[in-house]
Amino acid sequence: MVPGSEGPARAGGLVADVVFVIEGTANLGPYFEGLRKHYLLPAIEYFNGGPPAETDFGGDYGGTQYSLVVFNTVDCAPESYVQCHAPTSSAYEFVTWLDGIKFMGGGGESCSLIAEGLSTALQLFDDFKKMREQIGQTHRVCLLICNSPPYLLPAVESTTYSGCTTESLVQKIGERGIHFSIVSPRKLPALRLLFEKAAPPAMLEPLQPPTDVSQDPRHMVLVRGLVLPVGGSSASGPLQPKQSVPLPPAAPSGATLSAAPQQPQLGPPLLHPPPAQSWSAQLPPRAPLPVAQPKREREGPVFRKKWERDYFFVEVKSMPTCLICKKIMSVLKEYNLKRHYKSKHSQSFDQYTEETRDAILSELKKSLKCQ
Ligand SMILES: [Zn+2]
Repeated sequence: MVPGSEGPARAGGLVADVVFVIEGTANLGPYFEGLRKHYLLPAIEYFNGGPPAETDFGGDYGGTQYSLVVFNTVDCAPESYVQCHAPTSSAYEFVTWLDGIKFMGGGGESCSLIAEGLSTALQLFDDFKKMREQIGQTHRVCLLICNSPPYLLPAVESTTYSGCTTESLVQKIGERGIHFSIVSPRKLPALRLLFEKAAPPAMLEPLQPPTDVSQDPRHMVLVRGLVLPVGGSSASGPLQPKQSVPLPPAAPSGATLSAAPQQPQLGPPLLHPPPAQSWSAQLPPRAPLPVAQPKREREGPVFRKKWERDYFFVEVKSMPTCLICKKIMSVLKEYNLKRHYKSKHSQSFDQYTEETRDAILSELKKSLKCQ
């Protein structure tokens, strides 16, 4: 039987683990309301067996549960790249979480940290597996909602999946039989590619091209493992007149694809925060609290001299500036500088140590002053 063809959850009594992975940046904000209405609520209704009501608290983990992962960009203000809600069995509560997302930051970024979001989602599914031991295999769905192509950098925040690129993460999702779906206000080739890479093993996938079930020609909605109504939200009946959605910004033409070849492959990542404990063990059921992220070093807003030598960054007009490629970082945090250095320059510059490194640093500083 083809997953997703079982009919609505209400018919089959499907027990599902549902994770929404949402880009929490200003890039998605303007479109979220439209996506929520046309695709996200119908998806929740599909799993819930009807519109979410305040009264339908499952009360235990025997039924379908929902989790939310929100990821930001490198330049985001919050402490962590990813916020994560422990699972709830109440579809109603889940919707309130969606409505509480503050879309901010990332305005100047063309890419987003999809890898961080997906690695967190995979960890959640790992935790669910432990929780679900008694009832066996559940129907698992991961829905990515975003409006930016992924960075090419691998995930770093996850303990289990750090070092994994976005592509390898979606492949893992597919291999594990988790149904991966995408909802985007734009038809981004990089996202479509992710959807294709997440195809489950051949046995499970119907031999037909994925159909875009979007209700707006600009949107891209590719789903597996759930059924969305065609032609309107099931709650609101016939399709409402189209909202005047601002035209999506032009896709950064081939930004991700063309950049791929010159991107150095990174070795295992170097930043490993201490492992977070399993959510299942750590949190009371349905606590809608952001899961505490592993504490990173707090540096405060002061530029540290040692970063010059460690990451080849200097402070120019109180902005951290990369001496090698001249990129200016908008956030003065060691993590961001380190991430930049490790991803762009460590292959070429790690080899220089001791006096050689000092010499190169002073050369680079001189060349910056000459400009
Ligand atoms: Zn640089």
